[in-house]
Amino acid sequence: MKTLEHQIEEAARLVAESKRIIVFTGAGVSTESGIPDFRGPEGLWSKYDPEDFTIERFLSDRDVRKKHWQLLTGNEFIVADAKPNPAHYAITALQEMGKLYGIVTQNVDGLHQKAGVLENLVFQLHGDLSHAKCLGCSCRYPIEEVKGWLAGGVDEPECPSCRGMLKPDAVFFGEQLPFEVLMESEQRSRNCDLCIVLGSTLVVYPAATMPLHAIRTGAKLVIINMGPTAMDELATVRIEGKAGEVMPVIVKKAKEKVR
Ligand code: NAD
Repeated sequence: MKTLEHQIEEAARLVAESKRIIVFTGAGVSTESGIPDFRGPEGLWSKYDPEDFTIERFLSDRDVRKKHWQLLTGNEFIVADAKPNPAHYAITALQEMGKLYGIVTQNVDGLHQKAGVLENLVFQLHGDLSHAKCLGCSCRYPIEEVKGWLAGGVDEPECPSCRGMLKPDAVFFGEQLPFEVLMESEQRSRNCDLCIVLGSTLVVYPAATMPLHAIRTGAKLVIINMGPTAMDELATVRIEGKAGEVMPVIVKKAKEKVR
């Protein structure tokens, strides 16, 4: 078996040789920023029922909706105050090297943009939690505004404009992914020459098809994750480790190679 040092060296060589890198990120890239993942040991699924995250349950059950708003306003899943960690900044460094072709993310926390990646390079397959959306008239409201209403005693916010039902603007299980974001993510995944997966179990579809699109068209695949993923066998390099520790070293070594 190859040592960690050898694997990092190999990944750095691939980064240095590549021109169009897609970074595919999951919840694991943000745990070092204090946001829990779903399936890790401390993940939300150890405390919540995944069924409550389906659109069907959200629409049909008032108690489930209340639980969602409580989760957003409580201190278990704080997204608004979270700060990017070294993994996010290492990805931003790929942009500075002129190699970042796009970040396809399952995350809803906006941390790639906070770390300085250009908006038009971030493809948020599962939406984002910076806004809530009215299911009646599609008006969007900053989540901070909605939190203000909740703090003022409202237990289920409604649209001030049409009194329709509001929903956090993240994609729930059973909902369609934003079509244009999905199309652009697929197209870029097919055209990249390296796909780096960071912090994802690669079990949520259709998001997890992106690394498959990449390798089918000849790209190399690097997977960095704590714990197994569904595509470990397909990886050119598979690194078991923390995103915030491994990714900065890979990028630093890649920079030395292209100098
Ligand atoms: P997941 O929870 O299924 O898997 C995360 C993986 O990352 C796990 O294998 C875990 O062991 C690993 N991991 C945790 N910390 C890590 C670290 N520091 N370095 C490397 N690996 C680490 O997450 P997923 O595959 O992204 O899919 C689940 C869904 O969760 C997605 O749909 C996503 O939208 C949503 N989600 C997003 C956030 C967020 O926006 N930050 C947080 C929780 C869940």
